[in-house]
Amino acid sequence: MKALVFNGELALREVTRPKRATGEALIRVILAGICGTDREILKGYSSFSGIPGHEFVGRVAECDDPKWLGKRVVGEINIACRQCSWCLRGLSRHCPQRTVMGIVKRDGAFAEFLALPTSNLHEVPAEISDSAAVFVEPLAAATEILEQIRIEPGTQVIVLGDGRLGLLVGQVLAEAGAKVALVGRHRSKLDLAGRWGMEALEAGTAVPRPGSFRVVVEATGSTHGVEEALRLVEPRGTVILKSTVKDSGRLDFTKLVVDEVTLLGSRCGNFSTALDLLRRGRVHVEPMITKVFPLEDGVEAFRYLQQMPCLKVLLANEGS
Ligand SMILES: [Zn+2]
Ligand SMILES: [Zn+2]
Repeated sequence: MKALVFNGELALREVTRPKRATGEALIRVILAGICGTDREILKGYSSFSGIPGHEFVGRVAECDDPKWLGKRVVGEINIACRQCSWCLRGLSRHCPQRTVMGIVKRDGAFAEFLALPTSNLHEVPAEISDSAAVFVEPLAAATEILEQIRIEPGTQVIVLGDGRLGLLVGQVLAEAGAKVALVGRHRSKLDLAGRWGMEALEAGTAVPRPGSFRVVVEATGSTHGVEEALRLVEPRGTVILKSTVKDSGRLDFTKLVVDEVTLLGSRCGNFSTALDLLRRGRVHVEPMITKVFPLEDGVEAFRYLQQMPCLKVLLANEGS
């Protein structure tokens, strides 16, 4: 099969199809999404080598359990041991032995086929198109916030960052009843936020008062974003970090103590919640697709991402 393989550099290669272990399904990828993590991997994050890609929608081609055969599916990306104390507590996303598809010690979705345990799979309801289903993984990550804190209707929330994650988080929190403002630097992305019921604020021009938000979501992944989040949160409020920050050494956490602020890290979330939101048409995702490349042009797609302000670039497996 064809696959994009990263081994110091990214190249399209002909490789053998993944061998599926007992309990696993072989899935023909229909669409795969490129995300920030993939670009970090290409810079050496997680010392990954192999086939990247963890956002996909596909169809089950081979499986021991006939119930899955031919089903259109998305898949959770953490492959856990299912035996350790974390797994037994239902927290398999934190299993210390886990592999992560396309990120840690396991091949991913930038290929014609991938293998995943059937316990990771979710069937995609017919109402959800392929190009919406490919957003389930990042949308699930956005909904994780609702599992972690209670958002009362009318809560003032500000989201920092107008990237794909910020726009998903903003929509999810607005749908949960929050009053959402979103700060960004790109006119076209802010226009989407405005269209989707958020108050869109251009960074640097519309500066909100310090300490004026109960909940601040940091989705820029920058030290400046975290500083700004700490400035904007009200006493006893919560700052949610949705992106890892590389250079966090110079952050001043005095305010955390003085204002008794809660700092909350938030990562992967529940696929069922995300599928339900998409099925009911409660969040918009397809307008975020900037461009679709055939899998064969994957290297070109990564180059395109570097040059253009994109929300989402997809790779299509033409054979599907
Ligand atoms: Zn991702
Ligand atoms: Zn485990």
